[in-house]
Amino acid sequence: MIISIDPSTGTELARFQAHSSEQVNAALDGAVSAQREWRRRPIEQRVELLTGMARALRDGKRKYAALITAEMGKPIVEAEAEIEKCAWTCDFYAESAPRFLADERIESNATESAVVFDPLGVVLAIMPWNYPFWQFFRFAAPALAAGNGAILKHANNVPQCALAIEQVMREAGCPEGLMRTLLIEASEVAGLIADDRIVAVTLTGSTQVGSIVASQAGKALKKQVLELGGSDPFIVLADADIEAAATTAVKARYINVGQSCVNAKRFIVEDAVADRFAEAFKANVAKLKMGDPMERDTNIGPMARANLRDDLHGQVERSVAAGAVVLAGGAPVDGPGFYYPATILDHVRPDHVAFCEETFGPVAAIIRVRDADEAVDLANQTEFGLGAALWTTNLDRARELARRIDAGAVFINGMVASDARLPFGGIKKSGYGRELGSYGIKEFTNIKTVWIG
Ligand code: NDP
Repeated sequence: MIISIDPSTGTELARFQAHSSEQVNAALDGAVSAQREWRRRPIEQRVELLTGMARALRDGKRKYAALITAEMGKPIVEAEAEIEKCAWTCDFYAESAPRFLADERIESNATESAVVFDPLGVVLAIMPWNYPFWQFFRFAAPALAAGNGAILKHANNVPQCALAIEQVMREAGCPEGLMRTLLIEASEVAGLIADDRIVAVTLTGSTQVGSIVASQAGKALKKQVLELGGSDPFIVLADADIEAAATTAVKARYINVGQSCVNAKRFIVEDAVADRFAEAFKANVAKLKMGDPMERDTNIGPMARANLRDDLHGQVERSVAAGAVVLAGGAPVDGPGFYYPATILDHVRPDHVAFCEETFGPVAAIIRVRDADEAVDLANQTEFGLGAALWTTNLDRARELARRIDAGAVFINGMVASDARLPFGGIKKSGYGRELGSYGIKEFTNIKTVWIG
């Protein structure tokens, strides 16, 4: 049984029978035959589906945003922004995919040689609950435009979103069977990965599950894109605009109630400005309003699940026991719902849990450093490598330091965020492969050489 729970109250919203193995089989067969037909359509026709997806998302924006908020608790304004971003990304690929996937002529000793981009087949998408629509659509818009089919195994705490995504696809005019949601337990996924009807896998989720899925896909020799956890540094150098950094820091850490892979998690600040930054950050955090996520002025809603809140609080307790200083928050909120307040831990050291583990919730760690070199060393002292932010007014130095930071993206004087136009993904235990931009659309293509003598 797959159960949807309102994290703001802890009450059950709905329950669903998991799909049977016959239903799973029929979905895979249907996806394979739909994809065989879909891949033969010219890309100009395929991108019409994306335009339809954008329209269906915008038409249903309020309904879908309310569903996101009901099932995983993010503030409603952010849920609406998520739907808008999905629609915009569909529009972006509707316009750009034909250009990204155009044949590339390459000079060689052939009369003619070219690279063409063919689809791979039906891709299994294993997706998390934190951005229940975005995680799927940022994969699906380019993958479908490239001629693939998609099977979605969504996180089991967002089954209504998972089914609503299928509804968006139907309204968009998706060919029958080309995209299907499967309501199944995680334990069923290994069978899907091994199944010949699935050609590739994309996962957004924890590093732990990434390793399991990678080994299963590796055994079956199937292409994977893995977008896993992160412990992004947010470096503030002494010459930075401290007020601006402390304002952006709040959004960078607490958006989505801190449950994003690219939230800034470790605030690495030069000693000379650390007190000023910590005070300004604390003052901004005090303005955040925690409450019912359906209210438009709420900044901090509940966390998505009780166990996620318990795990986060355990990390806070262990960090404090080791010497971290609580500047704000620091304990779960009593009463119904899985609320955890915006929390700041100061004087965090590299051996503290809040530094060496990913904190997936509203907890910021401030680490004080001597200089820029130590800041970069500590930024890199993590098993993750997703994003990084760097604040300084010296842009030449920033460009140089950016090259020394081990991450898939470095944002200077800004916060890390995905953007359909730019590639997104990580290194180290944050995963591999890229989503979005021109790089992302090629991940699930056969980059084929055609040579004419
Ligand atoms: P998981 O990694 O457990 O879940 C992500 C997806 O993987 C879900 O669809 C889940 O399904 C599925 N899954 C779980 N176990 C397996 C398995 N053995 N084989 C195949 N698929 C599996 O994340 P959680 O929801 O448990 O969150 C825990 C942590 O993961 C967070 O604290 C955070 O560190 C990280 N995370 C990172 C995200 C990111 O954006 N990179 C997003 C969400 C979480 P099911 O729901 O049925 O278990």
